[in-house]
Amino acid sequence: MSLAIPIFDAHIHVGPHDRMNESARRVMLDGRNDLDLLGRVMSSADELLRAMDAEGIARAALINSVAPDVLGITDLVNPWVARYVEGHRDRLVPVGGIHPRHSRDVVADVKKLLDVYRLGAIKLHPPHMEMAANAYRTDCPSLADVYRLAGEAKRPVLIHTGTSIFPGARNVYADPMACDDVAVDFPGTTLVLCHAGRPLWYETAFFLARRHPNVLLDISGIPPRKLLEVLPRISEIADRVLWGTDWPSKGVRSMRRNVEDFLSLPLSDAVRRKILFDNAAALFASE
Ligand SMILES: [Zn+2]
Repeated sequence: MSLAIPIFDAHIHVGPHDRMNESARRVMLDGRNDLDLLGRVMSSADELLRAMDAEGIARAALINSVAPDVLGITDLVNPWVARYVEGHRDRLVPVGGIHPRHSRDVVADVKKLLDVYRLGAIKLHPPHMEMAANAYRTDCPSLADVYRLAGEAKRPVLIHTGTSIFPGARNVYADPMACDDVAVDFPGTTLVLCHAGRPLWYETAFFLARRHPNVLLDISGIPPRKLLEVLPRISEIADRVLWGTDWPSKGVRSMRRNVEDFLSLPLSDAVRRKILFDNAAALFASE
């Protein structure tokens, strides 16, 4: 089946997996039969582009975040992903992160992400950073600089919402409702709620996308065939939903198969096109 619509997978994980701590790496890599492919993809963008061509994927955002304590991933991911996409920014969007409690100068570090590494977005992962998305209101004031500077640079902030099963993850920070504060306090900053609160908070994520014009959802990690069960009114917010697979996370059969499953849903062509390509292409057009 050829895919008539160009596909923008706005949530795949290509990053320095070898830098993860042992327990996180096990969750990611144990028991898979595609380690060979993964090893090649992580070492060269040409290999990733070849895999995307084979799967009919036009563009992708490479999602990385900084989680030194839980995953062992430091801010080295930022130069890593910037270097990885060199020469391929027409198809690959580099996404990195910052952990304000591990940064001595948050303003300078965020500017570096935006201006030197030219990241397409900044990702925050509250359960892996052990920090609420609205922690600038309590114990981490400098988190506000991340939202403010990203907004000024017209770059979105991607926030993981929903549970994590990685060892040490703190799911008390997984509820997307903390993002309500962020959307209120930073109306000029576009927020993407990754995974739409999967699997416990779909209604909260949908509510936030309807309430706030600066909130989008990405539907990565949700089995596409279940999408209309968990987000039955998704067509009402079709302008603010991004396609993503979370590949190569376990349970994702392939980038292409997820698209095919999505295309089997009773959605209009206009809705499909917005979700599969147009919304992400517009969001990541600022570069
Ligand atoms: Zn992910």
